[in-house]
Amino acid sequence: MAKYKLEYIWLDGYEPVPNLRSKTTIKDFESFPTLEELPMWNFDGSSTQQAEGGSSDCLLKPVAVFPDTTRKNGALVMCEVLMPDGSPHPSNSRATILDDPGAWFGFEQEYFLMHNKRPLGFPEEGYPGPQGPYYTGVGYSNVGDIARQIVEEHLDLCLDAGINHEGINAEVAKGQWEFQIFGKGSKSAADQMWVARYLLSRLCEKYDVDVEWHCKPIRGDWNGSGMHCNFSTAYMREQGGKEYFEKLMGAFDKYKNEHIAVYGPDNHLRLTGLHETQSIDKFNYGVANRGASIRIPHSFVNNGYKGYLEDRRPNSQGDPYRIASRILQTVATVPTAA
Ligand code: ADP
Ligand code: MN
Ligand code: MN
Ligand code: MN
Repeated sequence: MAKYKLEYIWLDGYEPVPNLRSKTTIKDFESFPTLEELPMWNFDGSSTQQAEGGSSDCLLKPVAVFPDTTRKNGALVMCEVLMPDGSPHPSNSRATILDDPGAWFGFEQEYFLMHNKRPLGFPEEGYPGPQGPYYTGVGYSNVGDIARQIVEEHLDLCLDAGINHEGINAEVAKGQWEFQIFGKGSKSAADQMWVARYLLSRLCEKYDVDVEWHCKPIRGDWNGSGMHCNFSTAYMREQGGKEYFEKLMGAFDKYKNEHIAVYGPDNHLRLTGLHETQSIDKFNYGVANRGASIRIPHSFVNNGYKGYLEDRRPNSQGDPYRIASRILQTVATVPTAA
């Protein structure tokens, strides 16, 4: 037997977007625990905007577990929040996602690293040189400070945890970065994204750095942060076709407001039609068009309208559970041929 440090992680009840919360419990296991072996736990919902003081217990139900190599015998346990009777808490956006093992999601998380409320690499007053050299840049003046060290450490933490991290790049604004997470199954990529966000925020504590998830932290001619959502279903990958694709885009157009509602707060500051975005009140799609709401990869058209699509509207602060949930809800309104 060994003492395992289980970090139970969940989303609180704050709006418009939830915050990550976590606490540790020590339990004995013969070896690294499986999901089935992990017990339910509880917390004080009155401190997280999830309950009244009089009856404050909420339940934590483990839904995914990952090794935490920063701790001896450490595990990261992603949880759903349940009511005392075991039903999903109203804040539990994960529980609203349709179960679909054939749905695949790839999220591209953009964010800024901040020290004293300024992006890393910004001078103490004023601004650095204009955007241009920073995207995928190299060298102290372009991406300098400790940013790359943080980004590399975060990558290793994710890979060690078994998170399906797919890559990194320095982004268009100074101090802005991106990582990508991919997962098969309707909830997997979103689970992994929340744990990857947790690892990044926790890692930055020791550097006196905060992660800025807001979609437009620097006004003016500085890119905002998105979280492009690449998605496909088994039908889109295997059957697809132009007719189905056009019906699908019709449904995305019809429900554009419902999508924007869960694509992250303050998105009007980012979806302006500038900086590689479409305006928030318009829906369009286009092949390889980075100014479109939905970008169609060249491969999609070349393969007979089969494959995945990129919804470019979700922002960096969006809840990937709500985003995946809404996309699958809209996809489900479109009849398939078979
Ligand atoms: P870009 O910056 O050009 O938009 P990225 O390489 O940053 O592209 O991100 C592309 C994303 O698409 C990755 O997260 C990848 O996992 C995801 N992806 C690739 N194939 C599929 C697929 N069939 N279904 C869903 N997502 C996919
Ligand atoms: Mn990208
Ligand atoms: Mn990007
Ligand atoms: Mn993208």
